[in-house]
Amino acid sequence: MMNRRLFLKSTSLLSFGLAVIPELTIQDLSPKLSYEELIGKGTPKLFGHGYKLREEANDAFIKLSAEALKSDIRIQVVSSYRSFEHQKKIWERKYKQNINKGLSPKESIKKIIEYSTIPGTSRHHWATDIDLIDANVKQPRHVLNPTHFEGDGCFSKFKSWMNEHANAFGFYLVYTDKKDRKGFKYEPWHYSYKPLSKQYIKDCQKLDLSTIFKSESLIGCEHFSEEFISNYLNENILDINPELL
Ligand SMILES: [Zn+2]
Repeated sequence: MMNRRLFLKSTSLLSFGLAVIPELTIQDLSPKLSYEELIGKGTPKLFGHGYKLREEANDAFIKLSAEALKSDIRIQVVSSYRSFEHQKKIWERKYKQNINKGLSPKESIKKIIEYSTIPGTSRHHWATDIDLIDANVKQPRHVLNPTHFEGDGCFSKFKSWMNEHANAFGFYLVYTDKKDRKGFKYEPWHYSYKPLSKQYIKDCQKLDLSTIFKSESLIGCEHFSEEFISNYLNENILDINPELL
């Protein structure tokens, strides 16, 4: 009797591969991300046609898309899973562009984090978050522009539909247009699969960001003060749709 519980716990890792003990399924296979997966350096199993999501998020996304089609909206993924290396390329490209335009390192960093994350902290690392548009309308040149998602904008119908239906499928807007929200600007295209990401954001808060940035010798990271990193955590990572916290 002693230690059935302990025994189950200690074998739960093994049973990942075997999946033979049904009573373990809910409790012990709960969505916990490894440190590597949390910062985009893992090798998660990903699903999707033309995009990459975790299985559970993908299943929900397929259902969401099928429902949207009934209203003539063809949901298209612009961006889904991104690795650390991918995010690092984005960071370096933007950083160098800004410096070449004459911005100081601090100004450059400030500008990048209006829309882009520091590598290691992107929600896209988790494979639960996606940038979405409607492929059934004439496409503008730059699809991810907030003005397209309101008023007469081409994705306005899509956005209204999502406002009404996305939550029922587990998808929530992350960077809302709530007045006084800090951090990343309004992104009407960026949705997160809450049943998974709500746990991941908790794990993310335990990361030692300063050490991660330095050990990756990220370009510009010598300008990250402790204060900057703490503000980044509180504003860019945590000042999001409260439903996702
Ligand atoms: Zn996004």
